[in-house]
Amino acid sequence: MRGDFKARRAPQRPPWALTEEAFLGACSRCGECIPVCPTRIIVVVRGYPEVDFKRGECSFCGACATACKHGALLRAGNESTPWTIRAQVAENCLARHGVECRVCGDPCAVAAIRFSPRLGGPPLPEVDAGSCTGCGACVASCPAAAITLK
Ligand code: SF4
Ligand code: SF4
Ligand code: SF4
Repeated sequence: MRGDFKARRAPQRPPWALTEEAFLGACSRCGECIPVCPTRIIVVVRGYPEVDFKRGECSFCGACATACKHGALLRAGNESTPWTIRAQVAENCLARHGVECRVCGDPCAVAAIRFSPRLGGPPLPEVDAGSCTGCGACVASCPAAAITLK
């Protein structure tokens, strides 16, 4: 049990969520944000909504925030930032282990994943944090499950 708590990652709430403490206070667990998501990436974990990028990407349509009547997902306006998470590539990326792979670059609509040539191995993916929107489209594409949003 103790190990479970230590290993537990921070939940990825839907876009425009309040800070975690405030979110837990505001969210009524009504589930209204879940069926309105066109990409079906919002799931319930321990009673509260979370985003699961293994199911797909966020299009930032705003439907979840509009559906939230309790202010837990608070979109101030069209310009408000949905979240600050960005894609990160982990050590188990196939290209880091000598396997040619550029799969994750294809679904990225803003071309934030670039492949830098290097001597002695296939090009490595590098995420341009300035371009990455945190949409998560790259996550499910990776055959090694090496991409997370942080
Ligand atoms: S903004 Fe749209 S696509 Fe993204 S989680 Fe909310 S409902 Fe789903
Ligand atoms: S999270 Fe979205 S924008 Fe960022 S690298 Fe992945 S696909 Fe591109
Ligand atoms: S798809 Fe995954 S394994 Fe392939 S280059 Fe991208 S991060 Fe590495």
